Amino acid sequence: MSARKILHIDLDAFFCSVEELHNPDLHGKPFAVGGDPNGRSVVSSCSYAARQYGVRSAMPCAKALRLCPDLIFVHSGYGQYTEASHAVMEIIRDLTPMVQQISIDEAFLDVSDLPDSALSIARRLQSDIYSKTKLPTSLGVAGNKLMAKIANNIGKSNHKKPTPPMAITVVEPGEESAFLENLPVRELWGVGPKMAERLNMMGFKTIGQIAGKPVAFWEKAFGKSGRDIWERAQGQDERMVVEDHSVKSISQEVTFNIDIADPEILRKKILNLSEQVGYRLRKKGLCGTTIRLKIRWANFETHTRQKKMHSPVDQDRVIFEQAYEQMMAFYPFKQPVRLIGVGVSGLTNAMHQLPLWETEDEKERRLLNAVDEVRNRFGKNVLKRGNSIKKK
Ligand SMILES: [Mg+2]
Repeated sequence: MSARKILHIDLDAFFCSVEELHNPDLHGKPFAVGGDPNGRSVVSSCSYAARQYGVRSAMPCAKALRLCPDLIFVHSGYGQYTEASHAVMEIIRDLTPMVQQISIDEAFLDVSDLPDSALSIARRLQSDIYSKTKLPTSLGVAGNKLMAKIANNIGKSNHKKPTPPMAITVVEPGEESAFLENLPVRELWGVGPKMAERLNMMGFKTIGQIAGKPVAFWEKAFGKSGRDIWERAQGQDERMVVEDHSVKSISQEVTFNIDIADPEILRKKILNLSEQVGYRLRKKGLCGTTIRLKIRWANFETHTRQKKMHSPVDQDRVIFEQAYEQMMAFYPFKQPVRLIGVGVSGLTNAMHQLPLWETEDEKERRLLNAVDEVRNRFGKNVLKRGNSIKKK
């Protein structure tokens, strides 16, 4: 079995970053999101400038204020946090539907089926989210969820500056034990403060020390959870990224380096995006009924147009034809195009729909299968069908 590529993504000081978007004066200042500083409430998030004073989340506001007398308290309501969270998660789900959101600002992604290296996917995702939302994120990159999460925690806490970390921390397969060896036991998932204390009392300070004892020792001490602890101490974790059922579309978009007014360039881009969307649908065994085109003009004004099909589709050609038709509805353009995107929603399992294709599309389906196989083996950029799809 080839190694999986798992990412853990976590927004940096999420609530504070969102507050800063709405109030740029906060930039670089020590501030915290929390309730009444004179009451008994706690800090729910604090800026990296505030962390320089020792302020931490979950700390009583009164204590935070003692540590940092200039600390500014802000709180503008949960609504804008969920809105920002949705925007980020949408960008993540545009990359892959294999997303498991675990809190308002954290998610696991399984990117094993994407051809690029996990590190370059992480870099791209981080810069994509930042350029679209101005929100900083950090990522952990590893072969399983446990290691991706720990890698991210460590990468973030190694950052000591008064700015968001925007860290990307990689643990290569095979390097798990070395990465974990000297970390304190409480970094291990499932080891809470009480358990950490107990382990410390038993003389175990580091994860490496846990890994160094035979599994039988741990089973004797803690039963079934003893084995879990031992396995995690080896960096082992077989759990899957469990997709959210809210995944409702697969889409792909591109922001041009320079704004584009030439319809022929846009046609080629839509073709390319349609092929990527089709490839991802087939890879997941999905097809969809609604084909969507997204277009953003140079002035950032954004439009989407969609077309509902009679039967679910996953063929590049059909997606392209519909998306291109939607684009041509805007022609002649009022403005050059800054961003263009193609998406398919109304997803269903492709297997149920198979009989619909077998007649007229069988030949095309065989071609697509062959194309996908080459892409699977050599990466998606190797083979572009280009002229095999005729200009209409
Ligand atoms: Mg966070």
